[in-house]
Amino acid sequence: MAKQEDVFKKVVSHAKEYGFIFPSSEIYDGLSAIYDYGQNGAELKNNIKQYWWKAMVQLNENIVGIDSAIFMHPTIWKASGHVDAFNDPLIDNKDSKKRFRADVLVEDYCAKIEDKENKEIEKAAKRFGDAFDKAQFEATNPKIIEYREKRAAILSRLAKSLEKEDLADVKALIEELEIADPDTGSKNWTEVRQFNLMFGTKLGASADSATDLYLRPETAQGIFVNYLNVQKTSRHKLPFGIAQIGKAFRNEIVARQFIFRMREFEQMEMQYFVPPGTELEFYEQWKKTRLNWHLALGLGEDNYRFHDHEKLAHYANAAADIEFNFPFGFKELEGIHSRTDFDLSAHEKFSGRKIQYFDPERNENYVPYVVETSVGLDRLFLAIFSNSLKDEVLEDGSERTVLSLPPALAPVKAAILPLVKKDGLPEFADKIFNDLKFDFNVFYEEKDAIGKRYRRQDAIGTPFCITVDHDSLNDNTVTIRYRDTMQQERVPVSQLRRIIDEKVNFRTLLSKI
Ligand code: ATP
Repeated sequence: MAKQEDVFKKVVSHAKEYGFIFPSSEIYDGLSAIYDYGQNGAELKNNIKQYWWKAMVQLNENIVGIDSAIFMHPTIWKASGHVDAFNDPLIDNKDSKKRFRADVLVEDYCAKIEDKENKEIEKAAKRFGDAFDKAQFEATNPKIIEYREKRAAILSRLAKSLEKEDLADVKALIEELEIADPDTGSKNWTEVRQFNLMFGTKLGASADSATDLYLRPETAQGIFVNYLNVQKTSRHKLPFGIAQIGKAFRNEIVARQFIFRMREFEQMEMQYFVPPGTELEFYEQWKKTRLNWHLALGLGEDNYRFHDHEKLAHYANAAADIEFNFPFGFKELEGIHSRTDFDLSAHEKFSGRKIQYFDPERNENYVPYVVETSVGLDRLFLAIFSNSLKDEVLEDGSERTVLSLPPALAPVKAAILPLVKKDGLPEFADKIFNDLKFDFNVFYEEKDAIGKRYRRQDAIGTPFCITVDHDSLNDNTVTIRYRDTMQQERVPVSQLRRIIDEKVNFRTLLSKI
């Protein structure tokens, strides 16, 4: 555990030191769970957005993208169920005065049981060596069976109590399991209460005439209320999708995990409109497609897993999360939900407008069903960033920190470095910079020893360093250094564009999906 915490601390400090993420309003001591993206963070974030947008909108002939406003008519949030049901169960510890999500306390308790299971499996694997049959061990070992049954019973009781809004039972569960405040060990809990996560604000100048609004807690509703507009103007037949990237706001109860849980964050959502009765087929299809999209980034297959929801949200008839192995364990990265016709039907009812599709094949009108894929941009940023950050011991015993980002996502694609600041090398390097800048985000630097400059580029994930030396002036060649292998090669200047492009263009990444 200590090791995981160290890794996480290193992620947070590296993100700040190298201009990726700063605490918001830092000179005023910051604002809890709000962060700003710095010069390198903004580039990385934009590149992640591009990867998602291209995979959705550019590669799918039947998906279009929109950009709806953050402020929306307040009745939308009544229709969507957010006013009444967008709650988290909170519980306070009377001694430490700290606030927790009651469901998360129980889930963390179960995660600890799961850790114990994994340790048993690891121990057995060591004991039995090559003869170890994991599936058989899991199915027959009494300890594993006991742990799994215990976990399943706890989670199912939690799901049922939340479903029935039986908050007293959630509290009883916490007490029966003797769950303590993780920081202080105190078991002195308050009752469990529901807490609405939406931020309210006002529209209008005078206090009397102002309308109460909410900052949107999800981007999806902006898609639903534009369904008719988009369908009519794009003339797409079902199935078709609408994609959107944008800010969402939630007054999270517990927001202590850096950019994993923020109060202002960004979502990348796609709502796929399908004929009723076909939604589960498309749901399975999107689960696969989305996992492949993640896997193409090359962060390691073992770092992803599906988690099927026990407790379905009020709008869903099937739901799963893609979880990622963050520095603090497996947690939700993306949600894939079969939302039925809940949202469009609710907007029909509340707006009084017909939101229907005429299906020429079925020769009937109906409200489309929806399969949603919803990924948090900031969580994805954290997954990519933390997984790419590595400390390496080199052959000569020295160490380097390298951010081995997927090349298409790297903030800077190539650094152009004259070996010395004289003899015409800066001018030669400048010419290369001015040529490459039309195609790639490139960086020029002439200060400090070349080794130091390489290290700085490794730390921000630049895939290529291009060094100009005295020979360059004679033969028009430069040294290109590869970030991951640190190998160096002499190449003609005329080849640079091709070499960089091959590695960093989105085509290379997108064609792996
Ligand atoms: P959680 O259970 O972690 O609170 P959720 O199930 O409420 O998440 P959804 O409503 O399904 O999340 O939102 C879709 C995606 O938006 C999530 O998978 C996550 O990546 C992202 N997301 C949700 N809340 C936050 C937040 N507070 N900060 C950053 N990203 C978030």
